[in-house]
Amino acid sequence: MRQIAWCTLTYIFMIYPPYKIKVIEKISLIPRKEREERIREAGYNLFSLQSKDIYIDLLTDSGTGAMSDNQWAGIMLGDESYAGSINFKHLEEAVKSVMGFKYVLPTHQGRGAEQVLDKILIKSGQVVPGNMHFDTTRAHIENVGGRAIDCAIEEAYQPDTENPFKGNIDISKLENLINKDPKNIAYILITVTCNNGGGQPVSLENIRHVHEIAKKNNIPLFVDAARYAENAFFIKEREVGYKNKSIPEIVKEMMSYMDGCTVSAKKDAITNIGGFIALNDKKLYNKLAPKNVLFEGFITYGGMAGRDMEALARGLFEGTDEDYLRYRIDQVRYLGEKLSNAGIPIMKPIGGHAVFINGRAFLPHVKQENFSSQTLCVECYIEGGIRGVEVGTILAGRNQKTGENIYPKLDLMRLAIPRRVYCREHLDYVCETVINVYKRREKIKGFEFDFESPTLRHFLSTFKKVK
Ligand SMILES: *Cc1c(COP(=O)(O)O)cnc(C)c1O
Repeated sequence: MRQIAWCTLTYIFMIYPPYKIKVIEKISLIPRKEREERIREAGYNLFSLQSKDIYIDLLTDSGTGAMSDNQWAGIMLGDESYAGSINFKHLEEAVKSVMGFKYVLPTHQGRGAEQVLDKILIKSGQVVPGNMHFDTTRAHIENVGGRAIDCAIEEAYQPDTENPFKGNIDISKLENLINKDPKNIAYILITVTCNNGGGQPVSLENIRHVHEIAKKNNIPLFVDAARYAENAFFIKEREVGYKNKSIPEIVKEMMSYMDGCTVSAKKDAITNIGGFIALNDKKLYNKLAPKNVLFEGFITYGGMAGRDMEALARGLFEGTDEDYLRYRIDQVRYLGEKLSNAGIPIMKPIGGHAVFINGRAFLPHVKQENFSSQTLCVECYIEGGIRGVEVGTILAGRNQKTGENIYPKLDLMRLAIPRRVYCREHLDYVCETVINVYKRREKIKGFEFDFESPTLRHFLSTFKKVK
């Protein structure tokens, strides 16, 4: 029996922001005719649009958050000494206080941390199992000759199945993999929340279970903790026994089962740039430190300015504020539920940082080879100046051996919500726009490649309309 208190929320929505606005940034909606021109000039690739031509930008929640007055005040206290910056001390103290780790290596962002860790932990041919590895995480593992293997539960791949912890690792998949050759496992990595699975959380029960297995087999256990706080919020909301625990207590407990973490500070720590590795093992720290100096910068700055480290140190605490987290996660849900209530097909349950619209179900008459989700992204820009991103066929690319297009089961448009940036009115506008596209969906035609970039084709390709 599943021990989880869980209810789907179909009627929330008295949501109130736990902050007020002190600084604003002007945005404007250029006329429809101009939007049509801009997207055509961009080769129908939304990555090539200028941000000034976008009204509401939901491309990513990474580095796009609004810093607080407290963080901006910290920026003015940047100590830009090459070595021994006071801001690094503050960062160390914050990591210790929020996550409980003794040693910190600062990095320019999350992927910097991944590169440094993987150079030391992985020998060529070794395997790194996890729930679902993030793109850069996978790429860094493979870059040093490792194999990144996803072991998420089956429900993680089913868009319509409701499960409170869709980010969990499938324990039997993990054990089977380990039992084949325990010595060939470099380390285990749990990603919280599971970004590639739609921002779905991992339960503490699952984390404990993986921890036991790792310990029994003497395998290091790390967490990719970009969304450490959102995961803790879901645990508080959904897991039996955690209702009365505070977010900081839950974050600490999550981390207590880990040997260390890699963090992109651009997510839950609400900074525009930054990251770190944190861990407790002095010996491993001593091996990682020289690589950090080589790739990222000296061990007291690692590619960040002193001021960035100060903003990060403060942001780490702010990320765990329960009022903020409740508002944030309810905001994402608000958008998802409102779209769903209007008949728009979305992934369920709604994750922590984004709403995913099922492009194939939205535009069933557009063939997957004509990029249904990309088509939806283009139409939402034309309709209302909104930028989402395709997570589907274009992103999936081609099979390296056969050259065939890969057609992923989930072909989606992601609407990622930046932290502390937009309010309900913005989200209402997004809903109206998507609904207007939905009303005229039958007339919408798909795309084909005009230029197909051999690598990173979602960033660099251009498209033309199917006749
Ligand atoms: C963003 C992200 C990364 C990479 O971090 P960057 O700061 O973009 O380099 C790694 N893992 C997860 C889960 C992420 O969301």
